[in-house]
Formats: sequence, C-alpha cells, structure tokens
Amino acid sequence: MTARVAEILIPLALDQTYSYAVPEDLPLAEGDLVAVPLGPRERYGVVWSLRHGAGDNFKTVSGRFDVPPMPAALRRLVDWLAWYTLAPKGSALALALKVPVDAPETIRIGVRLAGPPPKRVTPARARVLEAATGGLVHTKRQLADAAGVGVGVIDGLVDEGTLETVALRAEPVAERPDPDFARPALSERQRAAAEVLAAAVATAAQDQGSAGSRHPVILVDGVTGSGKTEVYFEAIAAALRMGRQALILAPEIALTSAFLDRFAERFGTRPAAWHSGVSGRRRERVLTGVASGEVAVVAGARSALFLPFRDLGLIVVDEEHEAAYKQEDGVCYHTRDMAIVRGRFENAPVILASATPSIETRVNVQRGRFSRVALPERFGGRALPDIEAVDLRRDPPERGTWMSPRLVEELRRTTEAGEQALLFLNRRGYAPLTLCRACGHRFSCPNCSAWLVEHRFRRALVCHHCGHAERVPETCPACGGVETIVPCGPGVERIAEEAARLFPEKRRIVLSSDFPGGTERLRNELAAIAAGEADIVIGTQLVAKGHNFPNMTLVGVLDGDIGLTSGDPRAAERTFQLLQQVTGRAGRGTKPGRAFVQTYQPDHPVIAALLSGDAERFYREETAAREAAGMPPFGRLAALIVSAADRAEAEAFGRALARVAEPPPGVMVLGPAEAPLALIRGRYRFRLLVKASRETNLQDYLRHWLIRTGKPRGSVRVAVDVDPMSF
Ligand code: ADP
Ligand code: ZN
Repeated sequence: MTARVAEILIPLALDQTYSYAVPEDLPLAEGDLVAVPLGPRERYGVVWSLRHGAGDNFKTVSGRFDVPPMPAALRRLVDWLAWYTLAPKGSALALALKVPVDAPETIRIGVRLAGPPPKRVTPARARVLEAATGGLVHTKRQLADAAGVGVGVIDGLVDEGTLETVALRAEPVAERPDPDFARPALSERQRAAAEVLAAAVATAAQDQGSAGSRHPVILVDGVTGSGKTEVYFEAIAAALRMGRQALILAPEIALTSAFLDRFAERFGTRPAAWHSGVSGRRRERVLTGVASGEVAVVAGARSALFLPFRDLGLIVVDEEHEAAYKQEDGVCYHTRDMAIVRGRFENAPVILASATPSIETRVNVQRGRFSRVALPERFGGRALPDIEAVDLRRDPPERGTWMSPRLVEELRRTTEAGEQALLFLNRRGYAPLTLCRACGHRFSCPNCSAWLVEHRFRRALVCHHCGHAERVPETCPACGGVETIVPCGPGVERIAEEAARLFPEKRRIVLSSDFPGGTERLRNELAAIAAGEADIVIGTQLVAKGHNFPNMTLVGVLDGDIGLTSGDPRAAERTFQLLQQVTGRAGRGTKPGRAFVQTYQPDHPVIAALLSGDAERFYREETAAREAAGMPPFGRLAALIVSAADRAEAEAFGRALARVAEPPPGVMVLGPAEAPLALIRGRYRFRLLVKASRETNLQDYLRHWLIRTGKPRGSVRVAVDVDPMSF
C-alpha cells in the first residue's frame, strides 16, 4: 500500500482541514470518523479527502471509529453551509456531527474473546485481553476505554482472530411506514396537488445519479385546514414506494404527538422524531437507523436537517415562513434555504408548505425557480373563519382590564355553547413593564437594553434576553416609595387572570413557552386541548401554529397591533402571517369559526388585509415596497454584529471595519450603528449592514473584507449573519 495523507476536518471553530498521515494498515475512506491528535489532545474529526503522498511531516491518524461514514451529500452540505454563512468549516461540521461523537454506543459491532491468544502480547494487548474475559460482548469503544487503549489495538486483535466481532442486536427504531396503510379519499383539488408532488418524487428517484437530474422545489400554498398535510403525506408515500427516505421539518413546537399520531393513522406507524427532547439511546438508534436506511421517515426540528440519511428522497418544510427556522446563534443559517440546498445534493424534491408563504418563496415562484400547487379552500367545504375587528377606540375594555365588552360577550356565548375559545396574546409573562407610579422608575435589565418582564408564577422580574431575574421589591429602589410599584400592560398571564375572574367555572389552560415542565408538558396540554379538555385556552404564539383543535370556534386576538410599530421592515409581513395563522385555528372542525381582533388601527394595511381576506393584495404591496427599497429578495443583505464587553472597544472596531469596507459598485455598507438590542448579556453591540445587488457575490466580498480587517483583539467578536431576519 502506498503512503496516504488524509485531510481531516475537526468540529471546532477552525476554518481549514488538517493533514495527517494514515497508518499503512488502517483502511480509511472519505467521510470516516477518526480520532486524531491536535495539540495536547485527541479530537474527533471526519476524513474530508484522501491523497497519496508521504506523510512524514504530519502527525498520524490515531484510529477510525466503527460508525457509518458521513455521506457525501452531507459533507457537501457542510462545505456549502460554511461557504454561504462564512462560518468556520469546523463549526458547520459540528452541526452535523454532534451526535455520533457524543454517542459512541452507535457502534453496533461488538467484540468478544474468541480465538487463539495473539502472537505478540504487548502490555496494551494484555490489558484488552483482561478486560475482554467473562464472555461479555462489548462495543469496541467500551472495550478500548476499559483497557485504556486506542481502538486501533482492538482492531489489531480482531485482525489476528483473538477477538471476534459480532453484530449487536438492535431493536427496530421504527416500524416501516406503510404507504398504503390508510389512503384517504382526497378531494379533486387535493388529488391534483398530490399527483404533482408524487410525480416529482418519482422522477427524482428515477433520475438518481444521472446528469441533468431534477430536484424541484414545490410550494404547497393552501389556506389553513385545506389539507396541506394530507397532500404532502402522499408525496411521502411516493418516496416510500421508491424505497427512499423522507424528512419532515417542522418549527420546534409544532412537533406534537398529535402530528405523530396523525402520521400513524395514515402510515400505520409513527415517524422517528428528532428534536432536542430526544435523547440517550433513542437518539443513537434514530441516528444509526437513518444512516442504515432502516428509519424511513424522520419528523424533526431544524437539527434534523443534518442527519446522515442513506438515501433521502424527499424533504418537506412545513410552515416554511416560520421565523423559528432561522438560526441566529453561532452558524446563522435558514433551515428552509439549507433544506433546498440539501435537496439539490440528494437529488430530492423539496416541498414547502404554508398558508402564508414568505415573500422570498412567493418571489421564487414568480421567477419560475419554484413551482406551486394551490389549495385555496378548506377541506369539506368548511368556511374560513369570519374575522372582525374590535375597534378599541370605540369599544374599550374597562379600566384595568384588557378584553372589550364585545369580546367578553363572544367568549360567554362560545363557552356556553360547549365550544372552545382561544385568547391570543403574543407576550410572555404578566406585564411587559414594571414601574413606580410615584417617581416613574422603570425596571430594566442590568445586562441588556431591555425592560424586565414580570412573571407571577416565578414571582420575579425576568429579562427575556439573558435570563436575569430579580424579586419584585417592596419599595421603589429609586424613590423609596412603599407599595408604589405597579405592573404596566398585559402579558399572557394577566389575560389568564382576567379570564379566571370572568369565567371562574370554565376550564382554562394557559400556554406559554416559558412555563415549567418544558416540551413534555406543552405536548400534553396541546393534546388535552385537542381532546376538548379546556373551554378557554390562553396562549402565546406557540398555540397559533399548525394545531388542529376541532372544537375551537372562537379566536380572540387581544392586541392585533403588537409588532406593527417595531422598526423592522419585516414587521408587517410577520404580523400578517401570525394573525392569519392564529385566526385560522377557529372553525377547523365541523362548526364554523369566528375571530375578533382587538386593535387601535383597524385601517392599518395589515389589519385591513386580514379583515378583507385579501392576502394577495397585501403581499403585492409588501413585495412592491421591498422591490422599491432593494430589500430581500430583490437585493442581498448581510449584518455584521460587532460586540465587546466595552462599549468604546466595540464601536472602535465597528469603525475600523467600515474604514476598510471598500464596497465595490452595487454594494453599500451602512453603519456602524448601535444594534437594535444595543446591550445583550453585558456585551455592547454595533451593527454594520451590507446591502448588495442580487448579482453581487456577497460571500466573496465579505470574506475579503474580513481578511483585510484582521482578527479582532481583546473581547471584541464579529458575528456575520447573511440574510438576517430582522434588518
Ligand atoms: P392544513 O395542513 O392545510 O392546515 P390539514 O391537512 O391539517 O390542513 O387538514 C385539515 C383537516 O381536514 C384535518 O382534520 C384533516 O384530517 C382533514 N382533511 C383534510 N383532507 C382530508 C381528506 N381528504 N379526507 C378526510 N379528512 C381530510
Ligand atoms: Zn438581560
């Protein structure tokens, strides 16, 4: 065998691969997971490429792990992600590698003592033999750890026949979903849409590996309750029939047991779920099952995008417009956009589903880059809810309350009819602001530029940005006033209190993402609501989305104006989407639904579009405004956030960046200016915005600019966010 050198990518914030010599007797392929010495430590890494050559100048690969290699399409995704986001390649790899590294039990080959003693007994080998006695089966890693040796020593003993490898029995992670388990009778429109999707899946599968293969992106644009889920299930059935795997991505919390059950009703078994709540053995087994192909369908949060599928034949991005798909810490990527890239590398169609598609996606449809199937009506001839505005100027709530008499009346009528109502306020906590009514002192976070939010159940004032919490004091820290501290404005807890006062005899459930009990409790409560075990549901945006509550006929939006006043140019689009989603919870069952939106500005374009149901007009105007301003998707945008423990240091580095910006034609650099949140977790933040034409190679420009600037010193950090969500 000729000498080989491996380029190893290590999942740390490092931008390049490192060269290592490959031991002559170590079989190694691209994608293999290996251990390598780096500085004083052993690290995990992935073989990014291999070449012939003398490795005399390099350190040597310590060993290879007996786990499935990272598939080529996933390695390409890592490269692409790093290029696009400007994140270090190693950080991008870390997203895809978290699991096998932390879960050595994924090794499915066990070893046991079998054959004759080795010809040569080194001290390391002696320790292995000792550890291996007793007839037990160990994974290679366990045995190596027990003996304090590298896995290579175990491999040597296997080669000599002293140790024997045996396949460890693994229970199936998931039954195979059956595409024909319970096929629904689709409506005419649904069937037409399903046929388009299924044909795309089948065509892509047949084109596998051929040049000019197709991997279309298809938007399923359907009003709430139109059967989008039912329709994309048919595409999943098609992938299963082709023997390929499918991935359903959903924004975090939408991944309820209700969804998994619904999948099971259609396919006879649940899909494998993948999110932060899946841990330990289960996580490993899903992972190996995905790699072996045994797991056919995964439903997951955004991290599922990086699973090592053996043959991915379809990606569904449900609720594609959701802001939760944007990762804003570390590697800043948009899950939908990366799903499209992965689809290209896997030769798999990508389905985007939404009742309120993002402007980006709509424009891509207009440009002919995506295709679209439409479901403009609810299934079964059900009507969309009637939406009415409650003009708070004319019909104000009583002093110290938040529900107008009109809304209270509707709530009474609905609950008395035995139907469910949802009160929606997108604000966690009891009150968004706490102040002293004697001196006007407002409680703000010591680490962030933000007000503290009162949370009654925690009996504390809490910062939503850094988690800082303090008790509500008895006296005002500014003026010493006694009993002068008052909550100002409503949060969801305060609405719950009002509902309890008005309807003490009704069953109420309050849902907010920050309540104790985590995802598990939320899932149970969502299931309870769907089962009709509540009369009034009070919640933040996590009840707004994707859920199917058949007995819910009334939605009351407490404050339709929240978000409209923010300076973010996407505020209108987001508010519109959220209000459409939440009002769409009403009337999904057999009974018609109604929604009431409390507002001070019923004539605002967002509210007006919602009331008239003329979404197209709203989107047309928003899109035109974006185009006129050269904003995405008509222009390109990136944000550079400079932060430091010291304000002056952050600002100075921001200035230094601006000085060497040298924007070429078509590129504009704005700032530095204080970031929208000027202080978070004790770090001062300045922002530079890069606006560029669509033709600009934004990544190239940013990369050269950062190189010119040089590495920041001291506590200064620069974070790059390509396609920022708020701008
Ligand atoms: P969407 O995803 O567009 O909000 P869903 O797929 O959740 O819509 O469908 C809304 C409701 O209508 C669900 O309860 C679903 O089971 C039902 N439904 C939709 N299509 C059909 C169908 N063809 N046959 C029976 N029920 C259907
Ligand atoms: Zn804070």
